[in-house]
Amino acid sequence: MRLDIQGIKVHYYFVCKRKLWLFSKGIQLESEHEKVAIGQLLHEHSYKRVQMKEKMVDDVIKLDLVDDDYVREVKMSSKMEKADRMQLLYYLYYLKQMGIEKKGKLHYPKEKRTEEIELTSENEVEIEKLIKAINAIQYQPTAPKVKRLPYCSSCAYYSFCFAQEE
Ligand code: SF4
Repeated sequence: MRLDIQGIKVHYYFVCKRKLWLFSKGIQLESEHEKVAIGQLLHEHSYKRVQMKEKMVDDVIKLDLVDDDYVREVKMSSKMEKADRMQLLYYLYYLKQMGIEKKGKLHYPKEKRTEEIELTSENEVEIEKLIKAINAIQYQPTAPKVKRLPYCSSCAYYSFCFAQEE
């Protein structure tokens, strides 16, 4: 299976299919805000024992932190925990295809919480289905319809989706 899906698309799949489609068409409105905020969190909570290097793999996946055993993903909150888990599982799956086996850790520093994630054969199958589902969305000719979601008002695409209501 060809792997060219960025991790953010895995996240968007669980957040909003329309957002995934818009992003995949090059309409990339996400501000630098979240990246800056995550950088700040990393700084404040300084992961001293962890090699603090953002690592880009194949120009496709961007890992927050990597050490010998773990790929670590740092998130502002656990509101989108399913999306966070699947994004990290996708990274573990991606690395496994390259012959690199690691475990994952999801960090929610504001909540002082960490979750360990392991790639099992069951969730490998889940990831493979997910890759197909993401491709089906990104190659569909028109955007999924606007569906108001609880987090639309804080989404970078809000004006794009709800321009007529403003
Ligand atoms: S504003 Fe809402 S519907 Fe539009 S892309 Fe964002 S989350 Fe999806």
